[in-house]
Amino acid sequence: MGGEQKLTGPNLAKGVPLAGLEDGKMIVGHANGEAVLLVRQAGQVFAVGATCTHYSGPLGQGLLVEGTVRCPWHHACFDLRSGAPLRAPALNPIPCYDVLVDGAVVRVGKRKPEPKVWASPAGAPARIVIVGAGAAGHAAAEMLRREGYRGELTMIGADHAPPVDRPNLSKDYLAGNAPQEWLPLRPREFFVEHRIALKLGVRVKSIDTARKRVVLEDGNAESYDKLLLATGADPVKLDLRGADLPHVHYLRTLEHSRAIVEATKTARRAVVIGSSFIGLEVAASLRARNVEVAVVGPDDVPLAKVMGPELGGFIRKVHEQHGVKFRLGMRPQSIGAESVTLENGEQLPADLVVIGVGVRPAVALAEGAGLATDHGVLVDEYLETSAPGVFAAGDIARWPDPHSGERIRVEHWVVAERQGQTAARNMLGRREKFAAVPFFWTAQYDVGINYVGHATKWDRIEVDGSFEDHNAAVRFIAGGKTLALATIYRDRESLELERDLELRDER
Ligand SMILES: Cc1cc2nc3c(=O)[nH]c(=O)nc-3n(C[C@H](O)[C@H](O)[C@H](O)COP(=O)(O)OP(=O)(O)OC[C@H]3O[C@@H](n4cnc5c(N)ncnc54)[C@H](O)[C@@H]3O)c2cc1C
Repeated sequence: MGGEQKLTGPNLAKGVPLAGLEDGKMIVGHANGEAVLLVRQAGQVFAVGATCTHYSGPLGQGLLVEGTVRCPWHHACFDLRSGAPLRAPALNPIPCYDVLVDGAVVRVGKRKPEPKVWASPAGAPARIVIVGAGAAGHAAAEMLRREGYRGELTMIGADHAPPVDRPNLSKDYLAGNAPQEWLPLRPREFFVEHRIALKLGVRVKSIDTARKRVVLEDGNAESYDKLLLATGADPVKLDLRGADLPHVHYLRTLEHSRAIVEATKTARRAVVIGSSFIGLEVAASLRARNVEVAVVGPDDVPLAKVMGPELGGFIRKVHEQHGVKFRLGMRPQSIGAESVTLENGEQLPADLVVIGVGVRPAVALAEGAGLATDHGVLVDEYLETSAPGVFAAGDIARWPDPHSGERIRVEHWVVAERQGQTAARNMLGRREKFAAVPFFWTAQYDVGINYVGHATKWDRIEVDGSFEDHNAAVRFIAGGKTLALATIYRDRESLELERDLELRDER
């Protein structure tokens, strides 16, 4: 997570030559003590905050696309005219400033007041219920209010914690670099202020689509006119002797992450079972806490199925440089109080075990309600399920992706939030297709990887640049088309591919 940007560049309150601001270009400067981006696009000049409201990314290093600026770090997108956060992961606007053109000089003036919420949408449902208080559920609730929805709004979450920044649970928070105060996506007051009835620590047991109500495990029921299912995914549990021992952990929720942090106070040697994203991020975070780590995984190269063998091999090397030992092409056979035994008989000492072997979409509720499911809840391009008025978003949703031409389901933070936002608008009667290009990121030690697009198979991989120099792009190509791009600190390239895929597949 970043902090406030340092003030750099010219004092825009004093003014800069208009001729120095070419069309399609940005100048990063400051005005009245705030970092400001001066932009000229299609002949118009805009002045907006220069700092992304997600993780404080530098928007000046981002990309301008048709009236928007996109953040280089995690692809948030803001409207240059209003500062509105058009696309997650940013959920708060950036400020907008008056622009004063005085002859050949352009100056930045006062901060404009935040635009008013629009009028309540006509024909909006009286009651909306959201099941799931994670990425998709929270983004949907927030978007409903942002769109001016004034009806009753209830969000139900099985976890006790309010919506948290889940990606942080395996990264900075677990590594000890982020305090717990950073984790909530919103303070409690936000939900009160926006009249979002938050019911936490309670599970929905069933959905009655005929009577339009959800029944909670505590015996209460909530009726709805429109329903959003955003129940996410559950970690796959290993059916292994010893997997239920107290020093064995999974990681999905804040409570899980806290329990691992607590365990590191005494644990010296950890075995991480699973060599995909969660497993590797946990390994990196445990190393930051000086715990010895061995990673066990069935694949020969970690992450190769998603990122290709070249990048996977590099990630392995980075972990090894930080002292992680790998046992790859290998499965665990059992877990004991002080060690993990592998299928070849080797015993790895462990007083802490973290299992990260993938997740399963939490579709039980949807199945129980008779909704169409197939490796996820099936939704149409508007994210509506087979039951009219019932929408699904996030890790559970399998949607027709216009970019790959396939029905896909992904487990990406930004996709879940953007689906929540689209579902929210569609519950209000808009007919907005979900067409976002999938995006996710991972961070391990000082290596950040951004991945844009979606490729499960490819004909070839093109690597450009140097992994060691943290300046590389890996292109996944099939039938002559780039399907996806993984980058290490080539953020502009990642944004450019996102834009190109949007334009290519729109036609
Ligand atoms: C540790 C960790 C790190 C991650 N890091 C990244 C990353 O770096 N980048 C990235 O792109 N993605 C990352 N992800 C994935 C990302 O967090 C998920 O894709 C995203 O959270 C999915 O959002 P969601 O709303 O579908 O589900 P979730 O955020 O999991 O929310 C699901 C909600 O549903 C609730 N729920 C489930 N069943 C019920 C029920 N029956 N009744 C009531 N409530 C219920 C849960 O309590 C929870 O509130 C990470 C995931 C984890 C676990």
